[in-house]
Amino acid sequence: MTRVQMIGVSKRYPGRGKSASPVVAVDDVTIDVASGEIHAIIGYSGAGKSTLLRLVNGLEHASDGRILVGDDEITALPESQLRRVRGRIGMIFQQFNLFHAKKVAKNVEYPLVVAGMPAAERRRRVAELLEFVGLSEKSGAYTDQLSGGQKQRVGIARALATNPGVLLADEATSALDPQTSREVLALLKRVNAEFGITIILITHEMEVVREIADRVTVMDSGRAVEQGDVFDVFSNPQSQTTKRFVATALPTEPRADRLDDLRERHRGRLVSLTFRDGDVDQPVVFRTLAERGVGVSIVHGGITDVGGRSFGKLTLELIGDDLKVEHAIAALAQETALEVLA
Ligand code: ADP
Repeated sequence: MTRVQMIGVSKRYPGRGKSASPVVAVDDVTIDVASGEIHAIIGYSGAGKSTLLRLVNGLEHASDGRILVGDDEITALPESQLRRVRGRIGMIFQQFNLFHAKKVAKNVEYPLVVAGMPAAERRRRVAELLEFVGLSEKSGAYTDQLSGGQKQRVGIARALATNPGVLLADEATSALDPQTSREVLALLKRVNAEFGITIILITHEMEVVREIADRVTVMDSGRAVEQGDVFDVFSNPQSQTTKRFVATALPTEPRADRLDDLRERHRGRLVSLTFRDGDVDQPVVFRTLAERGVGVSIVHGGITDVGGRSFGKLTLELIGDDLKVEHAIAALAQETALEVLA
């Protein structure tokens, strides 16, 4: 069981050209990943995600701050000891990073050879790993003959070979189609559940976070702008970046041009309601409207599911006598976050 702590971590690169100011790739980031947790770091390209990952496995040195993987303080260890620690940190990549000229079994065996494991033991371990990822029959195939999903399974088997306490996933499903991506994420969930391996994954896809993560850190321009339980962060986003990610997963409020269009076509009052599992009872909302003799139709929005809990925004057209509609709006405002759009 391995906890990973990043405490006030920064990474600056020298700027290009003589008078250029340094590039701050990672800016004072603190993330405490509990042992056995699946933690997603989401951000757009250039946010500093992969730099942060390279700092965690000690491939690069932090400019400031401390990083601990279990009891090992990565930021304080000399290179000779970092190699030992890296054996306990597995890594998988977007482009799989396999040896094309080697067979599947040899790819998986490679870290065991480096670790000096005897041949008979290696064979047993490789067979066990290939069985776990469902590729026993591909043991003798060359990796070029495999599909993208199979290649990533080999990558996962190789990363698990030395029994790491932590697995780092660098956009591990970004090169895969949605169905294959879900299968690989399901495999990572099994890795986490069956072996208790802590997983840190970086991604630019909200779907990935939603599918697999317990907690999430949203990064923007090197900074951790939002952090917490996946449901809490996405169902009540605070930063513009997080709001943009949420908008990729579900239609929230209508954009201004769409709103004009909705106003044209719907003559009733338009209100936007936020629904959040645990906070707002949908039947109560609809009953309130019915009891007050107000008609309703849903004209925009959606409800989605994160970590088994639902949230979303619905734009409703309220139809009926002006006064009744006003009273209904006042009553609904007691139940949930409500915005009158027209
Ligand atoms: P992400 O993984 O979120 O796409 P990166 O960590 O790759 O982001 O990059 C963060 C920022 O740091 C970018 O502005 C990038 O250009 C810069 N950067 C990354 N690596 C280097 C480097 N070796 N030298 C200079 N700048 C770098």
